[in-house]
Amino acid sequence: LGGRITGALRKMTNSTVIDEEALKEMLKEIAHALLEADVNIKSVVELRKNVTNRVNLEELAAGVNKRKLIQKAVFDELCSMLDPGTKPVQMKRGKPNVVMFVGLQGNGKTTSCVKYAYYHQRKGWKACLVCADTFRAGAFDQLKQSATKAKVPFYGSYTETDPVKIAADGVDRFRNEGYDLIIVDTSGRHKQEDSLFAEMEQMAQAVDPNDIIFVMDSAIGQAAHDQAQAFKSKVKVGSVIITKLDGHAKGGGALSAVSATESPITFIGTGEHIDEFEPFNTQNFVGRLLGMGDVSGLVNTIKEAGLHENVEMVKRITEGIFTLRDMYDQFDSLAKLGPLNKVMGMLPGMSEMMQNAKGVDGSVRIKRFQHIMDSMTVDEMENPKMNFTQSRKERIARGCGRHPQEVEELLMEYKRFSKVVGKVGKMSKKNMNIDQLS
Ligand code: GDP
Ligand code: MG
Repeated sequence: LGGRITGALRKMTNSTVIDEEALKEMLKEIAHALLEADVNIKSVVELRKNVTNRVNLEELAAGVNKRKLIQKAVFDELCSMLDPGTKPVQMKRGKPNVVMFVGLQGNGKTTSCVKYAYYHQRKGWKACLVCADTFRAGAFDQLKQSATKAKVPFYGSYTETDPVKIAADGVDRFRNEGYDLIIVDTSGRHKQEDSLFAEMEQMAQAVDPNDIIFVMDSAIGQAAHDQAQAFKSKVKVGSVIITKLDGHAKGGGALSAVSATESPITFIGTGEHIDEFEPFNTQNFVGRLLGMGDVSGLVNTIKEAGLHENVEMVKRITEGIFTLRDMYDQFDSLAKLGPLNKVMGMLPGMSEMMQNAKGVDGSVRIKRFQHIMDSMTVDEMENPKMNFTQSRKERIARGCGRHPQEVEELLMEYKRFSKVVGKVGKMSKKNMNIDQLS
């Protein structure tokens, strides 16, 4: 999606005259991209209409930067579509807040419950978990295991078969024990939706939740709207969590979820790991959607990534330094979803480059590049200021049985990458204190 929209905007940037025709053309392209990204057709039509209304080309004074204006109109329009006009439910510390998670099976409820508990616990909440899924075999074990890892107290039963009773008992117990954030995980079976919804309604009645969070898998596609609406029509959904935004998800379903539930997105899941979970930030989300890069999100990810691996490299990237070795490692991790990959994906322009690097052609090319790098010296790999002479390039090519032209190509690619990293270095310096990383 990002690539296509960025492309449409770039086309605009390259064309000299911006008239009604060019605007129409650009909006058509953006509309296509949004549809492809699973944005609901109604929303797309609305966006087109609103942007067209907002940008009155004739009335714009000469000298006004029309392209910027259009770009901003699209950006703002997407932001306002993600804003339901209601605030997330406010929870009060020291009172027993009950939060119930709902959503279809496999959408990431249990994972998100534990992440949510862990997130709030680190912020000082007394959080706990109740497993009210008696439908899926092993549901309690799953919750138990991750809750134990996260050191969050939990409640559940191997023998009780009535999920409503478990929920009521668990919430009661934790209320009495003075917990201020009691999270209820529910089942989300497929197919038997009627009984699921009946169970959900009874449970909501029994535990009287302060908030009901609808958990939606970002990969669900055009079904997002109906699914979200189905849940909303049965229980009082107050907020939304979008999961699996780390995968190939297109993200457009997020807009549908907001409009169908009339509720704000509060968090997003960006991986299976417990801390791959962040508060939702509309502008960052839209920025990422549009491929504009997300500097503040980047800084957060870098901080978190820094806790796990390769602190040195992340540090250097934020300073704008990027070596051939970094590129080699980056190529290595393209297939994985490591934190580093996420960092790279958030660099402006980088996600596009990485997209190009994927696919069959891309991976053959990457293997070839790595092969060439294998015949370089440590200094060449690690000194970002290295100057390769023609004879040295030829020598490297001979060392790995490749054509000097390919070495040239690799170095060009490297230059492009390091230029982007350099820009980010400048941006991050403005936005963060590098010392906070360690
Ligand atoms: P539930 O049936 O709704 O409780 O869903 P689960 O929490 O059991 O999650 C289903 C699968 O999705 C599990 O394999 C999770 O590890 C995975 N999952 C959940 N959230 C995310 C996420 O944000 N990113 C990724 N990559 N996987 C996730
Ligand atoms: Mg579950």
